[in-house]
Amino acid sequence: MNKFETIIGLEVHLQLKTATKIFCGCANQFGSKPNTNTCPVCLGLPGSLPVFNEQALEFAIRVGIALNCTINSAIKFDRKNYFYPDLPKGYQISQYDKPICSKGFLLVHTGGVEKKFGVTRAHLEEDAGKLIHDPSANASLVDYNRTGTPLIEIVSEPDMRSAQEAYDYLTTLKLVLQYLNVSDCDMEKGSLRCDANVSIREVGAPKFGTKTELKNMNSFKAVKSAIEFEVNRHTQIILSGGKIVQETLLWNEEKGVTVPMRSKEQAHDYRYFPDPDLVSFTIEKELVNHVKSTMPELPKEKFQRFIEKYKLSEYDSSVLIQDKGISDFFESCVKASAEPKKVCNWITSVLLKEINDRKSHIDEMFLTPVNLAGLIRNVEDGVISNLAGKDVLKFMLDTGKSADEIIAEKGLAQVSDDGALEKMLDEIFAAHKDVVLQVKEGKQSAVGFLVGQAMKKSQGKANPKKLGEMINRRISNV
Ligand code: ADP
Ligand code: ZN
Ligand code: MG
Repeated sequence: MNKFETIIGLEVHLQLKTATKIFCGCANQFGSKPNTNTCPVCLGLPGSLPVFNEQALEFAIRVGIALNCTINSAIKFDRKNYFYPDLPKGYQISQYDKPICSKGFLLVHTGGVEKKFGVTRAHLEEDAGKLIHDPSANASLVDYNRTGTPLIEIVSEPDMRSAQEAYDYLTTLKLVLQYLNVSDCDMEKGSLRCDANVSIREVGAPKFGTKTELKNMNSFKAVKSAIEFEVNRHTQIILSGGKIVQETLLWNEEKGVTVPMRSKEQAHDYRYFPDPDLVSFTIEKELVNHVKSTMPELPKEKFQRFIEKYKLSEYDSSVLIQDKGISDFFESCVKASAEPKKVCNWITSVLLKEINDRKSHIDEMFLTPVNLAGLIRNVEDGVISNLAGKDVLKFMLDTGKSADEIIAEKGLAQVSDDGALEKMLDEIFAAHKDVVLQVKEGKQSAVGFLVGQAMKKSQGKANPKKLGEMINRRISNV
């Protein structure tokens, strides 16, 4: 029996995809030439004044509503003061005691049950620039394009009790955020970042233990591994009579260990104070209502709708909604007049695997919904076999051509001409007299062998169902 209980709280930073930065008109764009998306405001030049981006406010409210938060009416921004070369102003504009959203929760399926994880707060802040270390020049370069891009920080309650629960929370949260359409949510590009706070305590202890904060994980899997490593490290220290030091550690992916970065600073170290350049303001009820009335559909709602509208099973629906792009693609196929259950089968049993193999995403494929619907029609009408259909799909993914085009080009249409099939069967029956005899004596499974031979001979172009019927007919007539 484990003597200790794990306590985890997560801080998620999400880059909002507004057109411009949070306090100036510079483009909020990833991948531009370094230091081209800058101006006196985001470079912190003297005399420049920030102007708050309304789009960022709407996005933050949208996140707050989706996470069941209270949207606070009295809002202000605060300066978090510290020095670092990627922060030209010497302070970060953030929110300290009056965040936009507070006291929400997220329902998460984990370990076979649904758990409610509290969201303490979600506040807006600006991002810092980016340091690029150039070992060849023995120098560090700084790119201020990211300086002043809008972030929302979502802070959870210390409610997770295992690395797996933290992982499931993150996966669920990311899906909700994707559906909200406020961010790319791409951990590799850094538009979604996660810090994990970890502590352990003896089961039944009234208070939490000392926590450590983990940074530098660049996938959810890494978050899980880092937490597991840290729980183990805490346990060893406590079992050997030591004490946990409150500090921030960096996850080293290659070595699979956490490495101390700095001892933990306290809020007062930052000398938070209200930003005098940004007056406090009120979020009007009308704005919140407007955002509420224009909320995109959330994953849970889509899950329910797919079951009701398309008569899909819970399982099918849950697979489709796991990826917003896939669920939209599914609906477009149905609109292109394909049968929902058939589309679902093609997506879940063939398409998803192909996309996975390519380590890609549906949005990056040339396949269009109309073309997948066309492929399904060809298979249903018996123009091509199911097997050939899978091959056609592969070509469609990479070329964007229609099923009709590919079937014609590759000569994949099934041989359904009875004369041609009968002739082929003559040859097969002659070559495998023994098997034919077995079938006659009642060994039905041997029919499969004969069908297989015919499929091989026709290079997959024969219709197996039809072949089976023809073979049985022949044998019963003999
Ligand atoms: P800090 O003052 O270090 O920023 P906060 O109280 O603001 O700490 O919490 C930051 C994050 O750490 C939150 O997600 C919170 O849930 C989590 N947290 C707080 N205390 C603990 C603890 N003892 N163990 C694990 N996580 C914790
Ligand atoms: Zn700017
Ligand atoms: Mg804090």
